[in-house]
Amino acid sequence: MHQAEFRRVRYLLSVGDLSHLPPDHGAEVAFAGRSNAGKSSAINALCGRRGIAFVSRTPGRTQLINFFQLSAGRCLVDLPGYGYASAPAALRARWEALIGAYLRERHALRGLILVMDARHPLAPLDRRMLDWFAGTRRPVHALLSKADKLSRQAAQRQRIETQEALSRLYPSASVQLFSSAASIGLQEAREVLAKMLEMGEGGESSMPDALPERVESDRQPSPAARKRNPRLKGIKPGVKPQL
Ligand code: GDP
Repeated sequence: MHQAEFRRVRYLLSVGDLSHLPPDHGAEVAFAGRSNAGKSSAINALCGRRGIAFVSRTPGRTQLINFFQLSAGRCLVDLPGYGYASAPAALRARWEALIGAYLRERHALRGLILVMDARHPLAPLDRRMLDWFAGTRRPVHALLSKADKLSRQAAQRQRIETQEALSRLYPSASVQLFSSAASIGLQEAREVLAKMLEMGEGGESSMPDALPERVESDRQPSPAARKRNPRLKGIKPGVKPQL
């Protein structure tokens, strides 16, 4: 798939309830990420369409799952951002029920793009996403966003460390540097998306060989890596992260 195919994207619908999801066939790739991670900017940049994903900013749509159609039966799905420490418990519960069920049960879902700020990857709720998705045996690709905010060397180091940490959590996951502002990694990400969208329902083309039994790591990153990025240390199993 080339950029031209992504440019044909159009907003399809937003849903806040599982019963309103479009029919569960075709192929979808979902984008998840903490609020402010750069998820909307990433979708816009990948599609070469300024503003397409900012529809999720429209009042009333921030907690909805937004569907964007690339072609018949092929969608990009923008999941609600997470990470509001102050979100009320009822809202968090609703979010967990909606996103958890969508990630675990949606047949059309071919893969997950996890957008994480390159400076703060693998926050507890990012890990929760991986945990929910692990049972599907489908691929995950992480975009380390805002890579332009790091020096080239720091960005590369972060990519390697995140790949290491992520591999312990989700062995088949891949990682790349990304910046919508500086156009870093656009083509690489489009190729991953295209591959995911072309997969059959059984995930024929790129199934992971080894699957995690659980997402929490039982191995810890090196002390040096942990010092540079406190989020790389494993969270304790059973600790409930804040939305
Ligand atoms: P979302 O909440 O995850 O959808 O995040 P947005 O896409 O709205 O981006 C959040 C903020 O980060 C905005 O102020 C963006 O301008 C900024 N931002 C997004 N992507 C980049 C990037 O690649 N580089 C830089 N420097 N800033 C970015």
